[in-house]
Amino acid sequence: MSLTLAWLRHDLRLADNPLFQFETPPEQLLCVYVLDRAWLETLPGLEAARIGPARLRFLWESLIALRGELLRRGSDLLVRVGDPVMVVAELADRHGASQVRVRRDAGRDEAQQVHRLAERLGEGVALCQPDSGLLLDEASLPVPVAALPGSFSAFRRRVERAGAVSAALPAPVTLPPWPEAAPRGFPPLGKVCSRAASWTPDKRTAYRFVGGEAEGLARLDHYLWQSGAVARYKQTRNGLLGADFSTRFSAWLAHGCLSARQVHDAVRAWEARHGANESSGWVIFELLWRDYFHWAARQEGAALFGPRRLPPRSDAFRAWCEGGTGMPFIDAAMRELAATGWLSNRARQNVASYLVHELGVDWRLGAAWFEHALIDFDVSSNWGNWRYVAGVGRDPRGHRFDVLWQAARYDPDGAYVAHWLPEIAVLPPGSGRHRPWTVAPEHFALPLPEAPGQGGQAGARQSG
Ligand SMILES: Cc1cc2nc3c(=O)[nH]c(=O)nc-3n(C[C@H](O)[C@H](O)[C@H](O)COP(=O)(O)OP(=O)(O)OC[C@H]3O[C@@H](n4cnc5c(N)ncnc54)[C@H](O)[C@@H]3O)c2cc1C
Repeated sequence: MSLTLAWLRHDLRLADNPLFQFETPPEQLLCVYVLDRAWLETLPGLEAARIGPARLRFLWESLIALRGELLRRGSDLLVRVGDPVMVVAELADRHGASQVRVRRDAGRDEAQQVHRLAERLGEGVALCQPDSGLLLDEASLPVPVAALPGSFSAFRRRVERAGAVSAALPAPVTLPPWPEAAPRGFPPLGKVCSRAASWTPDKRTAYRFVGGEAEGLARLDHYLWQSGAVARYKQTRNGLLGADFSTRFSAWLAHGCLSARQVHDAVRAWEARHGANESSGWVIFELLWRDYFHWAARQEGAALFGPRRLPPRSDAFRAWCEGGTGMPFIDAAMRELAATGWLSNRARQNVASYLVHELGVDWRLGAAWFEHALIDFDVSSNWGNWRYVAGVGRDPRGHRFDVLWQAARYDPDGAYVAHWLPEIAVLPPGSGRHRPWTVAPEHFALPLPEAPGQGGQAGARQSG
């Protein structure tokens, strides 16, 4: 009796998932997701868990949805909390798996886990690690991972010269049956983390993320076909308020409820009907950034994260996390992040730059806080973008944003700041909502920092 164990990680979908594509289907299929117990433990230095309640809730929603789809196809899903390697190795052993399939991930921990699993699996158990979720597989990359160009532009040119992205694979109609003796089901979220079970985004949010493949496909349908927002993406993508200024696909992509190829195919289908424009092309361009960060992370390995031990939290870092720096544009964004689990790209760039270049805090603390707080946390995109802003690694220039200039450009009437900092909303538009020195200091938890451009700071103007 041949049995395949599909170990799901950040690939919680049926369509375009190589874990569920078989040349010769096995006689039985056991699908497992293991929430790493270590993600729930408080990280020394950060004083928060690696996975926060917002992401945990989205993850559970995605798992429940996936289980429903698997059951409909004659299979099931077993979810456990523990050490993923121990759980998977034990299940493979107990149920006599001849093959274990797991997506090849970029993170240090994910790679180490597969390495440990390979050592524990019995002889004769094949370990299969396909790429999944990206535009390009390793085999279709125009360069070996070890020779990945140092800049995104060079990578993009090579990819565009090399040609097409393969089409997404359809979801299987049926799946091999579940092994009779195997356990099923999963613990209720309330038992895993009560804060996640009761977590809801702040009512001021313009958009509520719900996990699962069907929800991801519904968002894709809305952004392309229902609202047509994709036609204006290039003009709106730097927005701060509203539901449709950017795609919001990130959460489903990060958990693998959608693959980049599904988005690519949908955009190409939309272009075939409505005609390609700069905006539709720009969505693909951004997905290529995502691929680039993935391959860069694969190339960098453990170096992506810098030294493992985080430095201790400083008052400045704590104030940044809590949205209490005294710089309204930054504080509004950090409060939005805490209240919703999501931030626009423009806001992410600004808060990252402010932490590193103005407050002088180690970039790794910022990346670790984002890992805790974001619903759409993706190891390569998060740690890669933080390195990019901080100027660590492949691009040592660093990207410093003049926060006041950015606020004036992207939030000219202070509506974003007023939305997330109600204490400042009492000030009329144009009264200098972005200028902390015009606001009474008692509104802020900490003394106001010096404004960039004063006290000798360069404050390079960036709008890109
Ligand atoms: C400091 C910092 C940390 C970040 N951390 C993450 C993270 O953990 N997870 C994550 O998915 N993105 C991360 N990003 C990238 C980007 O901010 C988000 O992907 C984007 O804001 C998500 O919103 P959206 O789906 O509406 O994006 P859109 O603007 O609609 O873009 C479409 C898709 O392209 C991809 N994309 C866009 N910009 C980037 C980028 N700079 N890097 C990589 N992929 C990109 C995403 O998959 C996104 O869903 C980070 C950016 C910064 C500056």
